[in-house]
Amino acid sequence: MIIPFNCDSVRVTSRFGTRTLNGKTENHGGYDMVGVGLWDIVAVEGGTVVQSRIVTDKSNTTWQWGNYVCIKTAAGQYHYYCHMASRAVVKGQTVKAGDKLGVMGNTGYSFGAHLHFEVRKSDGKTKVSPETVLGIPNKTGTYTRSALESDLDVLVKKGIINSPMYWKQKAAQVQYLEDFIHNVAEAVK
Ligand SMILES: [Zn+2]
Repeated sequence: MIIPFNCDSVRVTSRFGTRTLNGKTENHGGYDMVGVGLWDIVAVEGGTVVQSRIVTDKSNTTWQWGNYVCIKTAAGQYHYYCHMASRAVVKGQTVKAGDKLGVMGNTGYSFGAHLHFEVRKSDGKTKVSPETVLGIPNKTGTYTRSALESDLDVLVKKGIINSPMYWKQKAAQVQYLEDFIHNVAEAVK
């Protein structure tokens, strides 16, 4: 599990796919999430900041995202982080997993502070469930990172490993990796 906040628990308040909001049925392009206890938003994967802005002209539908940041990952995916109170990166900048992108907020078309996290394929249009990137189920609820996942994040932030999902899947398959990863994480703290 990868959490786009600098904390160990996240609440998914709205899932990806069809939903009804204020009596209107719409296709929700991402997850709405709230970091439990901490509002700093961090990159779930490294890449290049291809957009960091707020659109105030309401004839442009992008105004709905408020303050948002878009990261293009090495694999060519686009990750959108929306409705932030403030942004901590600028267009053209390179970021790595765990870098702070901004602070959760309520800008744009938003009814309460939350993060809208959206994933698009390299065509820039096709939306995919954030579950494929985060490992968080496409279902409302509260999700907490395990001690093992926290250790993996330490290694990712220090640049010792760069493919957290790969290691998380491996660790789930092979129990002994858990001790190995924990020991390495302890050694580099
Ligand atoms: Zn949303």
